[in-house]
Amino acid sequence: MLEQEIEETVDQLESEAYRAEAEIMSTHLALLRDPELHGQIYDLIQNNRHRAETAVEQVLQSMAAMLASAEDPLLAERAADLRDLAIRLEAGFSERHAFLPLTAWDRAGCFIIALPELMPSLVLKARELGVAGFIVAYGTGVSHGAILAKSFGMPVVRVASLEYVTRFSGRNILVWGEGEVLVEPNEIELSARKLPDNVIPIERVAGAPEARVWISIVDPGQLEAVEWAGIEGVGLYRSEALFMRYREDFPSEQEQFTAYRRLFRLAGRRPVVFRTVDLGADKPVEHMRFGPQVNPSLGLRAHRLFRFHPELLITQIRALLRAASGDHRLWLMFPMLETIDQLHFVQSLVDEAIQSLVNEGITFQSDFRQGVLVETPSAAWSFRRLLKEVDFASIGTNDLVQYLFAVERNTANVADLYQPEHPVVLEVIHHLTQIAADAGKPIFICGEMAADMSLLPVLVGLGLRDFSLSMGAAAIAVRDLSGLDETACRRLAQQCLAADTVNNVHTLLNRPDKQPVPSQVVAEGDVLDPVCGMVVHANDTPYAIDVGELSHYFCSRSCLNYFMDHLKQVNGTTSE
Ligand code: PEP
Ligand code: MG
Repeated sequence: MLEQEIEETVDQLESEAYRAEAEIMSTHLALLRDPELHGQIYDLIQNNRHRAETAVEQVLQSMAAMLASAEDPLLAERAADLRDLAIRLEAGFSERHAFLPLTAWDRAGCFIIALPELMPSLVLKARELGVAGFIVAYGTGVSHGAILAKSFGMPVVRVASLEYVTRFSGRNILVWGEGEVLVEPNEIELSARKLPDNVIPIERVAGAPEARVWISIVDPGQLEAVEWAGIEGVGLYRSEALFMRYREDFPSEQEQFTAYRRLFRLAGRRPVVFRTVDLGADKPVEHMRFGPQVNPSLGLRAHRLFRFHPELLITQIRALLRAASGDHRLWLMFPMLETIDQLHFVQSLVDEAIQSLVNEGITFQSDFRQGVLVETPSAAWSFRRLLKEVDFASIGTNDLVQYLFAVERNTANVADLYQPEHPVVLEVIHHLTQIAADAGKPIFICGEMAADMSLLPVLVGLGLRDFSLSMGAAAIAVRDLSGLDETACRRLAQQCLAADTVNNVHTLLNRPDKQPVPSQVVAEGDVLDPVCGMVVHANDTPYAIDVGELSHYFCSRSCLNYFMDHLKQVNGTTSE
């Protein structure tokens, strides 16, 4: 059961394009399936007559203790992953929740948690519940929990003892990225720190923009936990997540109907932006092969798949329109379109689905809006034409930025070149919002960029008013948007647009500049080539050498030779 839970988490993270984060949780799966671990546990049960939960705890905790004493800090931090698994397995035996305080606070909204150490599954759970940040007593920035928290924009501050902070429980606390914890911060303290991320409600200021916050989801069940206050509706439902959960075949029309019906039932009269299935590239399905393609991101994905499998979209539209019947508000959105030709193609399949429902006399929703998700440079370029034929648009910055720069953001050695805040991207966004304003049609932003609260004023200044974000980020955005001043946002956006480089934008945003080289290794098995600094897969490179207890891995023979020469020189010098 835990295995299934983690698999679902991995799928979900992958479907949200959190690939490195998904890999972290995959390491938990690998640990859980490790036959050696099973052997040790079985041994204790069989030979020492331990109860299963005692055996699990003993084996995992002693492995954790061994790792914790490792000299390599990366390795030492992996002990927290084992403790995480131990707690979750133990909770499974006693059928209780692994992190009781979190479930008790289920609907509390924006709050800070103080706890001894950050475990990956706790961070994931906290993200789901809209936790704003953490105060911890142990652990370092290279722990998987800290890496996940950073990815999800949740600041973590370490204090010498939790006693310093637990007595302030229930008060307004600001956890600030520079390692500060402020209790009931005053105006002066807040303004000195520019954009405070996690302080609880700031009054709406005069001149604040009329912006709307929506939530992005991958599973209708997420709506069970939504606090709707300040939220307009579902700004993005990534429907392929359902398809990725089916391991044997695509979900049937009836299975899809059941899932979508739940979605509309939980959303009620609130609008739901339903994205048609975007499979392929970073969203694979186990039971399908995509044929020969050198670069899957440039290959078969989304509507390109419908050219071979039109029934995929037709079935989905049938299920969707049936599920949305009644007084539900459906906004149907097509992802990954390149130009108007593809829009016509998917619309022809929608028409086909509608015709089949009519022919069969089935009740369905016929009143819905249609929109495009702008994710490709060609869609941005032909946006004026595209928008003429639809009712709304959304900017999918995750893909748009990737395709604008031709950079895959999860590829460690180029990830620093993936720059959503670059003036080029801001210019494209501005171009899109201006066209939408001219046409008088709504334009959303639904990529991760919108969840970067330090960019919020710039995005508002560029003309965006509809923000679709994950649940945790949405609560923060509702608060932050109400504290913005529209005129100041416009001024800031103009300055950013006029910037020549990304570092100029960083200066305007008071951010540190990005490091030109990848600064951290997050995926399991990845290591840094000590000569050139490139991230390499340890078991994928033939260029490796052991020096004493340490293994070194290199990208090429050239780096290996350089290292060996250097080593000889050092050894030569030492022996003289
Ligand atoms: C995007 O590309 O910004 C987007 C919202 O889609 P995805 O699911 O690919 O992140
Ligand atoms: Mg996308």
